[in-house]
Amino acid sequence: MTIRKTRALSFICLLLFVATGRLSAHPPEASRKVYAKNGVLDLRQENFSEILAISGEFKCYWQQLLKPGDEPKSTPFNVNFPGIWNLYPQNKGKKNPGFGYATYSLMLLLPPGERELRLGMPDAYSAYTLYINGELAAANGKVSTSAEGFEPHWQYRYTDLPRRTDTIRLLIQVANFSHHKGGFKDEITIGNRKKMELARQRDGAVDVFLTGCLFMGGLFFLGLYLRGSRDKAILLFSLYSIVFSYRIAGVDNYVLHTIFPDLSWYITIRLEYLSLFLGVSLFALYTRYLYPSVVSPLAVGLVTILCAAFALSSLLMPPVWFSQLINPFLVVMVFCIVYTSFIYIKAFRRRLPGAVYALWSSVALMGVFAISLLHYWGITHALQVLNFMSYIGFFFLQSMVLSHRVSFVLKKAQLEAEQGLKIKSEFLSNMSHEIRTPLNSVIGISHILLENNPREDQARQLEIMLFSANHLLTIVNDILDYNKIEAGKVRFEHIEMDIASVASNVVTGLQAEAEKKQLELYLQLDEALKNKVTGDPTRMFQVLNNLVHNAIKFTHAGSVGLIVKVLRETAQHVSLRFAVKDTGIGISEAHQKIIFERFTQADSSTSRGFGGTGLGLAICKRILELQESELKLNSSPGKGSTFYFDLTFEKHLSVVPVVPEKQRQLPHKDEKPLEGIHILLVEDNPVNVMVARNFLRSWGAGVDVAENGEQALALLDTSRHRLVLMDLHMPVMDGYESARLMRASGIRIPIIALTANLPGEVSGEVYAAGMDDMVVKPFLPAVLYNKVWNYVFPD
Ligand code: ADP
Repeated sequence: MTIRKTRALSFICLLLFVATGRLSAHPPEASRKVYAKNGVLDLRQENFSEILAISGEFKCYWQQLLKPGDEPKSTPFNVNFPGIWNLYPQNKGKKNPGFGYATYSLMLLLPPGERELRLGMPDAYSAYTLYINGELAAANGKVSTSAEGFEPHWQYRYTDLPRRTDTIRLLIQVANFSHHKGGFKDEITIGNRKKMELARQRDGAVDVFLTGCLFMGGLFFLGLYLRGSRDKAILLFSLYSIVFSYRIAGVDNYVLHTIFPDLSWYITIRLEYLSLFLGVSLFALYTRYLYPSVVSPLAVGLVTILCAAFALSSLLMPPVWFSQLINPFLVVMVFCIVYTSFIYIKAFRRRLPGAVYALWSSVALMGVFAISLLHYWGITHALQVLNFMSYIGFFFLQSMVLSHRVSFVLKKAQLEAEQGLKIKSEFLSNMSHEIRTPLNSVIGISHILLENNPREDQARQLEIMLFSANHLLTIVNDILDYNKIEAGKVRFEHIEMDIASVASNVVTGLQAEAEKKQLELYLQLDEALKNKVTGDPTRMFQVLNNLVHNAIKFTHAGSVGLIVKVLRETAQHVSLRFAVKDTGIGISEAHQKIIFERFTQADSSTSRGFGGTGLGLAICKRILELQESELKLNSSPGKGSTFYFDLTFEKHLSVVPVVPEKQRQLPHKDEKPLEGIHILLVEDNPVNVMVARNFLRSWGAGVDVAENGEQALALLDTSRHRLVLMDLHMPVMDGYESARLMRASGIRIPIIALTANLPGEVSGEVYAAGMDDMVVKPFLPAVLYNKVWNYVFPD
């Protein structure tokens, strides 16, 4: 046989041993082997500074169970210890060559003097009794000359040697009627009592620690599977870890048997083999679910079927049969190890998620085998720490594969969700534009018709139509706005803001509504409020308008007030409390908790009685939260409600007049306050042109119309036109471009954009194009009137 072939064979043997947990050149705690000759071991030159493994020639009394003092029936022969007796010439040709019984004897010669020595007894196939100098010293199970009365057991035992005696006679009875192998598999160890104790404790602790790690890790992944992604790879790895954790505690050192000494051998041997067969199939399946694109389902299917057959046999067959299956199972194991490494390399090449960790975990696994191999060849000690690290490394890296997988899935889902949200908000933004444009016509024409002396019944119907159109507009606006806030797309402006005029605009705008219900609507401004502040006037207006609008809506009689109070003021900052107080229907305590949620109203009768979508308060709440403020409420049913919040602003240097600027009321029908003012209206939609032109003309203004930006440039006459009303989206040339070209050619007259978008969406571009202001379509006549007035009569 070539060296290569020998090594390959050794490696396969090693795998076999590792698989069964039976590998040992000598027990891990021992540093050196000592050899007996002809049944005598001379240790008189030893100082016992290290733990020794006893091997060599023991005397064997075959088919005799001798107690101290018993006369042997035949002369003993020398056997190599440890070693299984399946190969003894006496056993050749037997149906069960591992079955039988024997007595081993060994004489130990120790140095003279007093010392504390201990013997460590490995487990035998499958029961033994040890006598030392005629005394019973240790036993595992019950030895017997036949299966009757025989009881197998595996557990680590030790015995302390007499202190002053320098000659020790060991007599070991061994019997096996349950395993396919008989005899001893490991050496007896001998050493200083304390050292032996420490070594055993260390081995036990390492095993318990590793078992705990794997078991808890397995439970963690099981929890992750049950409560989380239901990813089969995670489930399989969790089961694999739990099953494998049994092998650490229940095989080799048999720590489990030390903790539970009464465990039946027949159960634990089944579990030992079952855990091996199941472990391998779980790992194969796990790899399949981990990297399905590179794993052959056929190969894994075959391995699983084979493992299942082995596992079933370990449950159904007697141990003497299934303990022989380890040899054929070795083939499956070798295939699995080689195939898994191949898969990991493939996955790594294809840059599959976590493959780099998987590859390293194979390296760690190979580390375990390499250490075992070196130890098996006697090149190194057992290297228990390194072995332990490799095991931990393997499981840790596999956990990394899974964590990487989980976070990869999460990242992907997050990306998809973000993309979905983007598409949704783009869709909603487009829809908003599309819905607002026809709404503009409906609202505008309703206004025009209402001003053209309709019959009384027609006027009533027109008002209902106007109400419905406005309601629809509010809904569209609310949904859009909420969507935008949720998508985190809200940017707050930091511009000069006059709180007093924002508040007064809110009150003026809703005055007519309050009057309709005969409610007193008042604004109470703190006189201490002297400075303008830096903030977002549009959002401020939105929140206050919503709260005041709600207050009017839910109040039948009495008053609604908007109160602004200075809480604190420093040289740079001012903190204000905004309160909206009404004497309305109030909100019960139970409902107070839910009305800030989206789409919730205090009760279902609300939408029938008062309309609304239940989004207003949710929007206000979010807008305030984004500015680190909180919307609070005091309310008692039947008495009224006060919604309030505090906000701190940076002060702006300019001082505002205490009395806020008044909003102009719409002129009376016969008044023509814009007489002699010419306005260029740039708009491509004929209905919108009709609506705007009608309003402007009814206020006395002259209107020229351009259908697109290019026409506007041609038609604009700076000596005649005092203002441009510019639509943004038009064919040929849009409003932005047209405004930019006007400004570029030195034209300074005011340009007001007409837009169906939300102001926040386009304001940046509008101002960048050189336009001065915006009116959002569909516009209320009063809004358009005030905007136009402010620009044509600037003071
Ligand atoms: P909407 O007004 O569109 O229904 P909101 O989110 O603005 O939605 O309000 C949610 C609910 O809170 C209302 O339906 C109403 O039941 C209650 N609510 C809000 N403001 C008041 C108020 N001032 N007085 C009584 N109830 C109110």
